[in-house]
Amino acid sequence: KVQKGPSIEELVQGVRQGNRAMLARSITLIESNAEHDFRHSQQLLQQLLPYSGKAIRVGITGVPGAGKSTFIESFGMYLCELGLKVAVLAVDPSSSISGGSILGDKTRMEQLSRNERAFIRPSPSGGKLGGVHRKTRETMLICEAAGFDVILVETVGVGQSEVIVREMVDFFMLLVLTGAGDELQGMKKGIMELVDGVFVNKADGSNKANAQKTKEEYNQILHFLQPATKGWETKAYTCSALYQEGIENVWKTIQKFEETTKASGIYDDRRRTQTKEWMHSMIIDQLQASFFYHPKVKEMLPQMENEVMSGVQTTATAVEKLFEVFYENMTR
Ligand code: GDP
Repeated sequence: KVQKGPSIEELVQGVRQGNRAMLARSITLIESNAEHDFRHSQQLLQQLLPYSGKAIRVGITGVPGAGKSTFIESFGMYLCELGLKVAVLAVDPSSSISGGSILGDKTRMEQLSRNERAFIRPSPSGGKLGGVHRKTRETMLICEAAGFDVILVETVGVGQSEVIVREMVDFFMLLVLTGAGDELQGMKKGIMELVDGVFVNKADGSNKANAQKTKEEYNQILHFLQPATKGWETKAYTCSALYQEGIENVWKTIQKFEETTKASGIYDDRRRTQTKEWMHSMIIDQLQASFFYHPKVKEMLPQMENEVMSGVQTTATAVEKLFEVFYENMTR
């Protein structure tokens, strides 16, 4: 039983009935850093897992200012008006490292947050190494069990966050700004090979022609790159999140993508591979955490670092010594 709260069974029931309070409590359990909550949350997840998987999972990335929150507000409202239920999650690496956040202050997506078909959850805080990753993925599964049709996962291009989101979504989109000509040169080509669509935002007013030109520039580059998804050509499009133009086209593109990849089997293949990779990354997280939080390792690490820095000891020897105490005193 969960202390001072609903039981696992009550949470499962509540989530499956789409009860908001129960959904929020379940996610809080998933996000908790307490050891005993971890076991409860895994029991909960185990029971909800059979009901997950039916949503289309869409990742959204772009530099701060590209218009992600404005876009999610517009796109989310559009989907709600179609009668769909939308969950918005965030992967914000900055919030786990520095405590501050790039995404997710309260004033964002005001309209959407009041819509009864939408559910918005800010980025969890890390706690353990790799925690944000696990928590977001598990929250996504819980939301699916609660009957959400579309899961939007927002992130910024910081560190590994884009790779992490790519590993948990079906369709991954990049929001960009106009005048990318020079920016494109310096831009990590890597990200372009991770996404299934590039959307040039703020294609409105006097910026419209520019946006069109930028779109073509992106298409030229994309043409020479490896597509992120086999059998799907990544293309550039324009939209205006603020004036709600091209929003319908985004949804049409995603639907086309779903249709194409489901027909070819790529959709299911990717999900299976993602689950396998997910298992591997959880093993790595677990290993990392158990190593670095190991009391003996923690005790010895500063000294080893100093000895390596002052050249008293080789790095490999220091690492070996650390692993010796780790294996000798393994707690679990
Ligand atoms: P984020 O940092 O990527 O979440 O970007 P925001 O959604 O906060 O948008 C940054 C700024 O760009 C805000 O002032 C928005 O009003 C503005 N903006 C976003 N989308 C559009 C758009 O389609 N057209 C115009 N003109 N401005 C936009």
